[in-house]
Amino acid sequence: MDGELIFSILFLILALVGRGIRGYYSLKGQTPGKKRSVRERWKEATRVEGTARVILLMVNGVFLLIAIVLYLLSPQWMLWSQFPIHDWARWIGVGLGVLSLPFQIWVHRTLAKHWSSFLKLQEGHSLVTTGPYRWVRHPMYTQSLMFFIALTLVSANLLILIGFLIAFIFTFTRIPKEEQMLLERFGDEYRLYMKRTGRLLPRLRRQEDKVI
Ligand code: SAH
Repeated sequence: MDGELIFSILFLILALVGRGIRGYYSLKGQTPGKKRSVRERWKEATRVEGTARVILLMVNGVFLLIAIVLYLLSPQWMLWSQFPIHDWARWIGVGLGVLSLPFQIWVHRTLAKHWSSFLKLQEGHSLVTTGPYRWVRHPMYTQSLMFFIALTLVSANLLILIGFLIAFIFTFTRIPKEEQMLLERFGDEYRLYMKRTGRLLPRLRRQEDKVI
C-alpha cells in the first residue's frame, strides 16, 4: 500500500476515535429532557469566553475541517501543503495519538459532569482534584496538545498544523479566564490547589508560601 495512504487512514481512525470519545462523554453529560435553544447555547458559550473568541474558534473549526477533508481526499493540488518529515516522525505521531486516547478517557471520566465545551460553572459544581487533576489543573488541554501534535505529525500537512496551532493558542489563552472563574467560585480551596499542581504538566516542586 502507498505510504501516504497508510498515514491518511491512521489519521482518519485517530481523528474519529478522538471525536467519538468526546461525543460519547458530551452526550452522557447532557441533562435528559433539557433541550436548550440555539440562542441560549450561544449566550452560554459567549458569557465567559467572549463573542470574538467563540467566532474565531468556529471559523477555525470550519477551516480545519476543510483542510482535513482535502488532506484525506488528497487531490494532487494539495501536495504543496505537505511538509517533508521522515516517516519515523510520522510513526511517533501515531504512537502519541494512540497513547493520548486512554488519557482522554481518564480525564473525561474524572471530570464527568463538570465538563463543558465552553467555560461555565454547573449547578452544584464542586472542585475535582482526583485522577489526573491531582497533579495537573488542565489535563484535558494537555491531552488536546498531545493530540494536535500527533495529528500534525501523522498528516505532515501545513494547513492542519496552522489549524491546530490556532486551536491550541485559543485553548492556552482561555486558561487565565478559566482559573479566574474557578478562583471566584472556590476561593482559597482553588488557591491552595494551584500551589500543589502544575498548569499543563505536573509540578516538580511544591510551591511554598513566600515568607516575607
Ligand atoms: N481545563 C480543564 C477542564 C476543561 S473543561 C482541563 O483541561 O482538564 C472546562 C470546564 O471544566 C470549565 O468550564 C470549568 O468549569 C471546569 N473545570 C476546570 N477545572 C476544574 C476542576 N478542577 N474541578 C471542577 N471543574 C473544573
